[in-house]
Amino acid sequence: MSDYLPVNCRIRDNKYCGKCCYNTKMILTFDDILRISSLGYDPNDFVIIDEYPRLRNVNGHCVFLDESTNSCLIYEHRPIGCKLYPLIYDPEKNTIKLDDFCPKRNEIPEEEIKRLKRVMVRLLRNIGIL
Ligand code: SF4
Ligand code: SF4
Repeated sequence: MSDYLPVNCRIRDNKYCGKCCYNTKMILTFDDILRISSLGYDPNDFVIIDEYPRLRNVNGHCVFLDESTNSCLIYEHRPIGCKLYPLIYDPEKNTIKLDDFCPKRNEIPEEEIKRLKRVMVRLLRNIGIL
C-alpha cells in the first residue's frame, strides 16, 4: 500500500493537468526538505518560510513544475502533501476533504480516501497543525 492517492492526472498523450501545481501553497515537512535536498536541490531554491515551510513558486507555478507538459520534475520524490492531494485539510471546518479544485477528485475510490485520511492526520500532527 502506498501513501499517495492514485490520481490519473494525464489529460492528453504528453500533457498533464497540473492545476494544483500553479500558485501552490503546499506545506513541506522536514522529511520532504531532506529528501528533495538529497537529489541535489538547494533548499533556498525550493522552500519559502512563512508560518510553515512551503514550496516556492516561480513564474506563477511550483519550482518543480515542467510548464511544457505540466509534469512534476521530482514526481517520485514530491512532498507528501502533493502525494495526498486532492485530499486537503479545511481549517475552518476542521475536516479533511477532497479539494473541489481538482477535476479528477471524483475518480478516486472511496476506500483509498478513507485509508489516506489517516495518513493525512499523521502528516498534520507531524507539521503541528493538529
Ligand atoms: S488538480 Fe487534480 S488532476 Fe490536476 S494535477 Fe492536481 S491532482 Fe492531478
Ligand atoms: S512538487 Fe511536483 S506535484 Fe508538488 S506542486 Fe510541485 S510540481 Fe506539483
